[in-house]
Amino acid sequence: MKVEFTNLKQQYLEIKSEVDAGLKKLFSKSNFILGKEVKDFEKAFSHYCGSKFGVGLNSGTDALFLGCLSLGIGQGDEVIVPAFTFIATAFAVTYTGAKVVFVDIDEKTKTIDVKKIEKAVTKKTKAIIPVHLYGQSADMDEIIAIAKRHKLKIIEDAAQAHGAQYKGRSCGSMSDVGCFSFYPTKNLGAFGDGGMVVTDNKKIYEKLTMLRDCGRLGRYKHTIKGYNSRLDTMQAVMLTAKLKHLDKWNKMRQENASLYNSLLKDEEKIITPFQAENRNHIFHIYAVRVKKRDFIIESMLKKGINALIHYPFPLHLQEAYQELGYKKGDFPIAEKVASEIISLPMSPHLSKEKIKFVAKILKDLIDGR
Ligand SMILES: *Cc1c(COP(=O)(O)O)cnc(C)c1O
Repeated sequence: MKVEFTNLKQQYLEIKSEVDAGLKKLFSKSNFILGKEVKDFEKAFSHYCGSKFGVGLNSGTDALFLGCLSLGIGQGDEVIVPAFTFIATAFAVTYTGAKVVFVDIDEKTKTIDVKKIEKAVTKKTKAIIPVHLYGQSADMDEIIAIAKRHKLKIIEDAAQAHGAQYKGRSCGSMSDVGCFSFYPTKNLGAFGDGGMVVTDNKKIYEKLTMLRDCGRLGRYKHTIKGYNSRLDTMQAVMLTAKLKHLDKWNKMRQENASLYNSLLKDEEKIITPFQAENRNHIFHIYAVRVKKRDFIIESMLKKGINALIHYPFPLHLQEAYQELGYKKGDFPIAEKVASEIISLPMSPHLSKEKIKFVAKILKDLIDGR
């Protein structure tokens, strides 16, 4: 049996008529840049998150980068980032000229270890970027308390957490700026690149609308040095159609995760995902931990199962961050998790039959069969 990691075509087929009609209408209007549909989607998605404003951008990376800039982060500042995340979380800080300071993660939730944040705070620290990794919120109450004590800003990396919640609050809405990616495979994905920052702060919102559009206030009046980072109207049309299905699709992911959990729970050598209390985990990624990971994942591939690794290397050991001078052993939990993690196939439309097949093959391999 062949098991793909994700299944975007199935999602498209479910909303085909709406998407096709929306595109046809858009082509006849041809308002490709910052059309009304962008504003409509910004309203719909920020409202979905429980935030007042949304600014549609060209990617999640730029959402983080411009989110940092909108808070005044730049040269001379330090920003705290977990050592285990997608590298764009750190790049966004680097692009501003600020310095990345890594902190280890919690072994169970794989989000930033709140007990280790304060040791990394210095006079230069300006902000913390918690990442709601795999679709589960970081420990926000504790992070908000630390930020208050040290007068720090918080930038949420919610690129994997569309619709995830922490004590009833939506990921992205609990801080100064919440940053989303609409990369196609994310829980809410465009038909290409896209991103958004959500915020409750009108000044930050206004600054972001200028930052993404050449620093414009009027057509040829440029008040700040801005960028070209707009969400395409076409993507806004697609995303508007998909947003209506997001909660249902997240629920389907959760049901798939429960089935994996029940099939794998008796196998001691497989550590299934930890779900913290009071957090609605939306399973962007369903990741298990095993020993001999590289052998296991290669063997799964040979059986037709397209499992992946998010992520095989912690950021402090990436060549791109050599200049920061970190070494092996600095963040032992991030290093251990990176060496043991496997992302099993996960998507809303993944069939029960395929989940059972994946679980069986994985258990057989672990038992040496
Ligand atoms: C996907 C992702 C990003 C970057 O988003 P892009 O839209 O690909 O630029 C940033 N952080 C995390 C945690 C992500 O998963």
